[in-house]
Amino acid sequence: MQPKLGSHVGMSGKEMMLGSVKEALSYNADTFMLYTGAPQNTKRKDISELNITSAWECMRAHGIEDFVVHAPYIINLANTVNPATYEIAVEFLALEIERTIAMGSHILILHPGAHVGAGVNAGIDRIAEGLNEVLTDKHDCYIALETMAGKGSEIGRSFEELATIYDKVVHNDKLRICMDTCHLNDAGYDIVNDFDGVIDRFDQLIGKDQIALFHINDSKNARGTGKDRHANIGEGTIGTDALRYVVHHPDFLHLPKILETPYIPSPDDPKKTIPPYREEIALLR
Ligand code: FE
Ligand code: FE
Ligand code: ZN
Repeated sequence: MQPKLGSHVGMSGKEMMLGSVKEALSYNADTFMLYTGAPQNTKRKDISELNITSAWECMRAHGIEDFVVHAPYIINLANTVNPATYEIAVEFLALEIERTIAMGSHILILHPGAHVGAGVNAGIDRIAEGLNEVLTDKHDCYIALETMAGKGSEIGRSFEELATIYDKVVHNDKLRICMDTCHLNDAGYDIVNDFDGVIDRFDQLIGKDQIALFHINDSKNARGTGKDRHANIGEGTIGTDALRYVVHHPDFLHLPKILETPYIPSPDDPKKTIPPYREEIALLR
């Protein structure tokens, strides 16, 4: 079995989701991740304008079986300081679950949130409250909580924090985890020398069957710095060998691996940047 590799892709213009599929194919990818609109705002097109049917025709014709959706990073379920932020987050998340299902995906990736000064426990309680508002057993969609680097007041920097969210969510059979290699490294987990040890620890706390996908990114910073700055594959502190080990790990071969590495300067015009994904996917295969 070959690893399933892709990257995040855009979704805009007339073609919308069909354009996302074509972009993924241009990278030789066999999966992809998209935001349903700009990740920094909550303005979204109607589901009827997303061009879902032609996108799936194209996916089937080229053997792409699945893709994942990332919720915008401005939604913050952990905010107890500003009630409006929390309410917008809950409302948006409920709609985002519907969009994810309508588009034919069943994985919605979510940053757990940032407690913005109220403390980890208050933040976690609020996250669980929000997830309990949106997660029901009638939806065929998982929310995959992303492992975070721990910058600022981010929650989800440790497996213990994520396990506590699981404990407090009623329909936690609808929760999954998105493992981000850059975030794990920056949060202090030694995935370079002891990926299997990190997975064992995760397995004891949450269960490795709960991992739904990986974000494959190198890191600009040393392990444990709590920074979250993605580097291109082989150009950071994690390195190609360690990332290849994750991508080809027999326990996770069937799971999507999504690159979120930065665009690189164009060789033709240094003022422009181009996506590195075609080359990085080839490098990791
Ligand atoms: Fe993310
Ligand atoms: Fe990520
Ligand atoms: Zn990140």
